[in-house]
Amino acid sequence: MKQNQLLVLVTLVAVAIVAAFVVLTNQDEPQQASETRGEHVSIQGQPTLGSSDARVSIVEFGDYKCPSCKQWGETIYPKLKADYLDGQDVSFSYINVLFHGQESILASLASESVYRQDPDSFWAFHKALYDAQPASAKHDEVWVTEERLVELAEATTDVDLVAFADDLTEESTVLEQVSRDDGLVKQHKVAFTPSIMINGVMLEDPFDYEAMKRLIEENR
Ligand code: CA
Repeated sequence: MKQNQLLVLVTLVAVAIVAAFVVLTNQDEPQQASETRGEHVSIQGQPTLGSSDARVSIVEFGDYKCPSCKQWGETIYPKLKADYLDGQDVSFSYINVLFHGQESILASLASESVYRQDPDSFWAFHKALYDAQPASAKHDEVWVTEERLVELAEATTDVDLVAFADDLTEESTVLEQVSRDDGLVKQHKVAFTPSIMINGVMLEDPFDYEAMKRLIEENR
Protein backbone atom coordinates (compact mmCIF):
# COMPACT_ATOMS: atom_id res chain seq x y z
CA MET A 1 0.00 0.00 0.00
CA LYS A 2 2.70 2.42 0.98
CA GLN A 3 4.62 1.47 -2.10
CA ASN A 4 1.58 2.29 -4.21
CA GLN A 5 1.20 5.68 -2.50
CA LEU A 6 4.86 6.39 -3.12
CA LEU A 7 4.48 5.45 -6.75
CA VAL A 8 1.50 7.79 -7.11
CA LEU A 9 3.46 10.60 -5.45
CA VAL A 10 6.49 10.05 -7.67
CA THR A 11 4.26 9.99 -10.73
CA LEU A 12 2.52 13.22 -9.66
CA VAL A 13 5.84 14.93 -9.07
CA ALA A 14 7.13 13.75 -12.43
CA VAL A 15 3.99 15.01 -14.18
CA ALA A 16 4.32 18.36 -12.37
CA ILE A 17 7.95 18.69 -13.45
CA VAL A 18 7.11 17.86 -17.05
CA ALA A 19 4.18 20.33 -16.99
CA ALA A 20 6.37 23.08 -15.51
CA PHE A 21 9.04 22.38 -18.10
CA VAL A 22 6.51 22.57 -20.93
CA VAL A 23 5.17 25.89 -19.58
CA LEU A 24 8.65 27.32 -19.18
CA THR A 25 9.74 26.04 -22.56
CA ASN A 26 6.68 27.57 -24.21
CA GLN A 27 7.32 30.89 -22.54
CA ASP A 28 10.98 31.16 -23.40
CA GLU A 29 11.42 29.21 -26.59
CA PRO A 30 8.23 28.90 -28.58
CA GLN A 31 10.19 27.82 -31.64
CA GLN A 32 11.91 24.84 -30.00
CA ALA A 33 15.63 24.42 -30.38
CA SER A 34 16.00 25.33 -34.06
CA GLU A 35 17.22 28.84 -33.38
CA THR A 36 18.98 31.19 -30.99
CA ARG A 37 17.44 34.46 -29.87
CA GLY A 38 19.54 37.63 -30.07
CA GLU A 39 19.41 41.32 -30.88
CA HIS A 40 17.71 42.62 -34.01
CA VAL A 41 20.26 43.29 -36.76
CA SER A 42 20.61 46.91 -37.85
CA ILE A 43 19.96 46.91 -41.61
CA GLN A 44 20.57 50.61 -42.06
CA GLY A 45 22.74 51.11 -45.15
CA GLN A 46 22.41 47.45 -46.18
CA PRO A 47 21.00 46.27 -49.50
CA THR A 48 17.41 45.37 -48.68
CA LEU A 49 14.59 43.92 -50.73
CA GLY A 50 11.28 45.24 -49.51
CA SER A 51 10.59 47.99 -47.01
CA SER A 52 13.32 48.64 -44.44
CA ASP A 53 10.63 48.92 -41.76
CA ALA A 54 8.80 45.71 -42.68
CA ARG A 55 7.44 43.76 -39.69
CA VAL A 56 9.67 40.80 -40.54
CA SER A 57 13.34 41.44 -41.27
CA ILE A 58 15.29 38.52 -42.69
CA VAL A 59 19.06 39.00 -42.81
CA GLU A 60 21.50 36.76 -44.62
CA PHE A 61 25.11 36.87 -43.46
CA GLY A 62 26.82 35.53 -46.55
CA ASP A 63 30.24 35.14 -48.14
CA TYR A 64 30.59 35.11 -51.93
CA LYS A 65 33.37 32.57 -51.54
CA CYS A 66 31.20 30.14 -49.58
CA PRO A 67 29.80 27.14 -51.52
CA SER A 68 26.91 26.70 -49.04
CA CYS A 69 25.87 30.32 -49.66
CA LYS A 70 25.70 29.64 -53.39
CA GLN A 71 23.66 26.52 -52.65
CA TRP A 72 21.36 28.44 -50.28
CA GLY A 73 20.82 31.10 -52.93
CA GLU A 74 19.87 28.46 -55.48
CA THR A 75 17.61 26.31 -53.29
CA ILE A 76 16.14 28.23 -50.34
CA TYR A 77 16.16 31.83 -51.57
CA PRO A 78 13.83 31.24 -54.57
CA LYS A 79 11.21 29.72 -52.22
CA LEU A 80 11.56 32.64 -49.84
CA LYS A 81 11.24 35.11 -52.69
CA ALA A 82 8.16 33.43 -54.13
CA ASP A 83 6.42 32.99 -50.76
CA TYR A 84 7.24 36.25 -49.00
CA LEU A 85 9.45 38.81 -50.69
CA ASP A 86 6.95 40.24 -53.11
CA GLY A 87 4.68 41.38 -50.27
CA GLN A 88 4.91 44.37 -47.94
CA ASP A 89 5.57 42.84 -44.55
CA VAL A 90 8.81 40.87 -45.10
CA SER A 91 12.20 42.29 -46.05
CA PHE A 92 15.48 40.61 -46.97
CA SER A 93 18.92 42.12 -46.41
CA TYR A 94 22.41 40.87 -47.23
CA ILE A 95 25.47 41.45 -45.06
CA ASN A 96 29.01 40.48 -46.06
CA VAL A 97 31.05 37.94 -44.14
CA LEU A 98 34.81 37.72 -44.70
CA PHE A 99 35.56 34.15 -43.64
CA HIS A 100 37.56 33.24 -46.77
CA GLY A 101 40.24 35.92 -46.77
CA GLN A 102 41.32 38.19 -49.61
CA GLU A 103 38.78 36.96 -52.14
CA SER A 104 35.91 37.49 -49.67
CA ILE A 105 37.15 41.04 -49.11
CA LEU A 106 37.50 41.72 -52.84
CA ALA A 107 34.00 40.39 -53.59
CA SER A 108 32.56 42.40 -50.70
CA LEU A 109 34.24 45.60 -51.90
CA ALA A 110 32.80 44.95 -55.36
CA SER A 111 29.26 44.41 -54.08
CA GLU A 112 29.45 47.50 -51.83
CA SER A 113 30.75 49.55 -54.74
CA VAL A 114 27.81 48.48 -56.90
CA TYR A 115 25.39 49.17 -54.06
CA ARG A 116 26.85 52.64 -53.59
CA GLN A 117 27.00 53.61 -57.26
CA ASP A 118 24.00 51.80 -58.70
CA PRO A 119 21.81 50.36 -55.91
CA ASP A 120 19.11 49.20 -58.33
CA SER A 121 21.60 46.79 -59.90
CA PHE A 122 22.80 45.36 -56.61
CA TRP A 123 20.74 42.14 -56.68
CA ALA A 124 21.59 41.43 -60.32
CA PHE A 125 25.30 41.79 -59.54
CA HIS A 126 24.90 39.77 -56.34
CA LYS A 127 23.33 36.89 -58.26
CA ALA A 128 25.92 37.12 -61.07
CA LEU A 129 28.69 36.89 -58.47
CA TYR A 130 27.25 33.73 -56.92
CA ASP A 131 26.59 32.32 -60.39
CA ALA A 132 30.27 32.94 -61.16
CA GLN A 133 31.36 30.80 -58.22
CA PRO A 134 32.43 27.47 -59.75
CA ALA A 135 29.91 24.77 -58.81
CA SER A 136 32.64 22.50 -57.55
CA ALA A 137 34.49 25.31 -55.76
CA LYS A 138 36.90 24.32 -53.11
CA HIS A 139 37.68 26.97 -50.55
CA ASP A 140 41.21 27.45 -51.85
CA GLU A 141 40.36 27.71 -55.55
CA VAL A 142 40.91 31.31 -56.71
CA TRP A 143 38.09 32.70 -58.85
CA VAL A 144 37.41 36.18 -57.42
CA THR A 145 39.78 38.43 -59.36
CA GLU A 146 39.60 42.14 -60.18
CA GLU A 147 39.29 41.30 -63.87
CA ARG A 148 36.37 38.92 -63.30
CA LEU A 149 34.60 41.42 -61.03
CA VAL A 150 34.89 44.19 -63.61
CA GLU A 151 33.46 41.83 -66.26
CA LEU A 152 30.50 41.01 -64.03
CA ALA A 153 29.89 44.66 -63.17
CA GLU A 154 30.00 45.59 -66.84
CA ALA A 155 27.48 42.85 -67.67
CA THR A 156 24.96 43.54 -64.89
CA THR A 157 25.25 47.18 -63.76
CA ASP A 158 25.63 50.77 -64.93
CA VAL A 159 28.50 51.60 -62.58
CA ASP A 160 31.47 53.70 -63.68
CA LEU A 161 33.95 50.88 -64.25
CA VAL A 162 36.99 53.01 -63.42
CA ALA A 163 35.51 54.05 -60.08
CA PHE A 164 34.44 50.44 -59.53
CA ALA A 165 37.96 49.14 -60.20
CA ASP A 166 39.35 51.79 -57.82
CA ASP A 167 36.96 50.51 -55.14
CA LEU A 168 38.76 47.14 -55.33
CA THR A 169 42.04 48.73 -54.29
CA GLU A 170 43.45 50.39 -51.19
CA GLU A 171 41.91 53.63 -52.50
CA SER A 172 38.46 52.09 -52.09
CA THR A 173 35.63 54.39 -51.02
CA VAL A 174 33.65 51.49 -49.54
CA LEU A 175 36.12 50.11 -47.00
CA GLU A 176 33.95 51.53 -44.26
CA GLN A 177 30.91 49.56 -45.47
CA VAL A 178 32.85 46.30 -45.50
CA SER A 179 34.24 47.06 -42.08
CA ARG A 180 30.75 47.83 -40.76
CA ASP A 181 29.53 44.44 -42.02
CA ASP A 182 32.45 42.75 -40.31
CA GLY A 183 31.45 44.54 -37.09
CA LEU A 184 27.89 43.17 -37.39
CA VAL A 185 29.25 39.67 -37.96
CA LYS A 186 31.16 39.91 -34.69
CA GLN A 187 28.31 41.61 -32.83
CA HIS A 188 25.86 38.85 -33.77
CA LYS A 189 28.42 36.07 -33.26
CA VAL A 190 28.02 34.73 -36.78
CA ALA A 191 29.88 31.43 -36.72
CA PHE A 192 29.16 29.96 -40.16
CA THR A 193 27.82 31.01 -43.55
CA PRO A 194 25.17 31.41 -44.59
CA SER A 195 23.65 32.52 -41.30
CA ILE A 196 20.04 33.62 -41.37
CA MET A 197 18.54 35.89 -38.73
CA ILE A 198 14.84 36.73 -38.59
CA ASN A 199 13.89 39.57 -36.24
CA GLY A 200 16.92 38.89 -34.12
CA VAL A 201 16.54 35.12 -34.05
CA MET A 202 19.40 33.08 -35.53
CA LEU A 203 18.29 29.94 -37.35
CA GLU A 204 20.38 26.95 -36.33
CA ASP A 205 19.96 25.42 -39.79
CA PRO A 206 19.68 27.97 -42.63
CA PHE A 207 18.44 25.18 -44.91
CA ASP A 208 15.46 24.36 -42.65
CA TYR A 209 12.82 26.18 -44.68
CA GLU A 210 9.97 24.99 -42.45
CA ALA A 211 11.59 26.57 -39.38
CA MET A 212 12.11 29.74 -41.38
CA LYS A 213 8.46 29.85 -42.44
CA ARG A 214 7.32 29.26 -38.87
CA LEU A 215 9.41 32.20 -37.62
CA ILE A 216 8.21 34.48 -40.39
CA GLU A 217 4.56 33.65 -39.72
CA GLU A 218 4.98 34.21 -35.99
CA ASN A 219 6.43 37.67 -36.57
CA ARG A 220 4.11 38.84 -39.35
CA1 CA B 1 26.96 45.78 -46.33
